[in-house]
Amino acid sequence: MINETDFLIIGSGVSGLNFALKVADYGSVTIITKKDVQKSNTALAQGGVASVFGKTDSFELHVADTLASGGGLCKQDVVEMVVESGPDRIKALIDLGARFNMEYDADQKKTGILSMGQEGGHSRKRIVHAQDLTGREIETVLAKKAKQHKNIKILENYTAVNLITCSKAVKSGLVVRNHEICNIGAYVLNNDTGHVETYTAGITLLATGGAGKVYRYTSNPDIATGDGLAMAYRAGASVANLEFVQFHPTCLYHPEAKNFLISEAVRGEGAVLKDAFGREFMAKYSKDRELACRDVVARAIDTELKVSGEKSVFLDISHKDKDFIQNRFPNIYKKCLGYGIDITKEPIPVVPAAHYMCGGVATDLFGKTDISRLYAAGEVACTGLHGANRLASNSLLEALVYSERAANEAIREFQSIENYDAVEIQPWDESGTTDSDEAIVVSHNWDEIRSLMWNYVGIVRSDKRLSRALRRIENIQQEIDEYYWNFKVTSDLIELRNLALVAELIITSALKRKESRGLHFNIEYPQKDDKNWLKDTILKKRY
Ligand SMILES: Cc1cc2nc3c(=O)[nH]c(=O)nc-3n(C[C@H](O)[C@H](O)[C@H](O)COP(=O)(O)OP(=O)(O)OC[C@H]3O[C@@H](n4cnc5c(N)ncnc54)[C@H](O)[C@@H]3O)c2cc1C
Repeated sequence: MINETDFLIIGSGVSGLNFALKVADYGSVTIITKKDVQKSNTALAQGGVASVFGKTDSFELHVADTLASGGGLCKQDVVEMVVESGPDRIKALIDLGARFNMEYDADQKKTGILSMGQEGGHSRKRIVHAQDLTGREIETVLAKKAKQHKNIKILENYTAVNLITCSKAVKSGLVVRNHEICNIGAYVLNNDTGHVETYTAGITLLATGGAGKVYRYTSNPDIATGDGLAMAYRAGASVANLEFVQFHPTCLYHPEAKNFLISEAVRGEGAVLKDAFGREFMAKYSKDRELACRDVVARAIDTELKVSGEKSVFLDISHKDKDFIQNRFPNIYKKCLGYGIDITKEPIPVVPAAHYMCGGVATDLFGKTDISRLYAAGEVACTGLHGANRLASNSLLEALVYSERAANEAIREFQSIENYDAVEIQPWDESGTTDSDEAIVVSHNWDEIRSLMWNYVGIVRSDKRLSRALRRIENIQQEIDEYYWNFKVTSDLIELRNLALVAELIITSALKRKESRGLHFNIEYPQKDDKNWLKDTILKKRY
């Protein structure tokens, strides 16, 4: 059976939901999401959304800070557009019901002025936040509205497997110049029945988020396996700048904590980094100390750990007033207390962890990929905003701005499509496959990829280690491929296959960049090479 929808959205984080709410007045919308609707990176975002408000800040300053962080690779027109769109996107969220922190006057009355947080790399306080649970606030408001909309159907516990495309020969005179690829839907695994269902759509949006799970240590939740990136690449879309993986400097180090982040805002409020002997060390690495850009702080911690052989460093905010800490960081305070760490009295053990993918599926200013009728927004996309290094809290901003622009463009494109379901679509073929009897292949390869990426393709890289990693990943992919075609697909197998491909693409991109820039640090080329540099690292599958 073929299911038809006008707009197919893969992912229910901020990008997918915001896009859905815009397009739903123009056609039927189906949102596919791997777990329940609010299980996303968005829901875990603590710090907030960067946006310019108030007299002491300006668009020019936010643009300058973003460009400085991006190491020369940001697209200036994109940066200006995103920064200038910020205040309207925040106001739209407030109109939908989002409650952000406000300033109080001397009588403890709300002033109507947004309270701004400080984060590394920002020259002004410009982070709009809802305590340290900003993402949860945004996700909850958007999910509630999406559930109420009569045109929006949300399918939870569904995993998109592959995009469905058709290709059209583009002729110039008598010569076929190229084949334009057009997206017409997706094959989707219903995790409850174990069967793959077919969805056709006028427009498809990839809003599948990041790929942090490709690394052994990550701040990302389990859904972040780079599925959208892998599906888009397999379908023939260009992907860009995948060597730029941001490692968050401060994830909680505790044997029972899987992926708990200690927000940058904690450093913004004055927390200091110390080694195991209580010595502060950031002054050795940057004049901005704890508020240097994330790559600088992550590399500093990595260096300290390699030299000392210790398992973690420590982040100390205990010198601040107890009430202030509890009110400003209620979530972090409670979570750490649950692990036996009272952050009002003692330092927090922290390590760096893979956090954010700056590269992704290449898009234009409207979120369009180079496959027609396929859009991408949010962390899965590479718009040119972040360049070689994302400035803190610019990602929720980017997701809000691009999902809005993509929606407007998608509505226009959808209304111009004629006969979009005229192409004959083959249903998913599972003949000849059986249920797997060797789940160990999946779990073993899963662990191997994540360790390999952590050890060879981590914060500090070398060509030698990258080449070794590439050889290993190619072998693993061969094994996964044999397995994939013989057994019925499961969500674990889909994710493993995607992780392996994303790992290969990150390594290949890293090998292409013969310099150190932004988040990509290679000991064999420790300097930026402004003469022979590569603007964007674009990869596209050849057929
Ligand atoms: C701990 C943490 C803290 C952060 N803090 C901040 C911050 O303070 N400020 C900031 O700007 N950014 C922050 N970020 C980054 C930011 O949260 C993300 O970049 C952003 O939320 C991504 O939104 P998204 O809509 O692109 O994807 P996500 O919110 O990650 O949503 C992805 C969705 O896609 C679905 N999905 C994925 N693959 C499939 C598939 N195959 N089939 C079906 N569904 C699929 C998932 O189930 C999920 O619903 C943080 C990230 C983390 C992990």
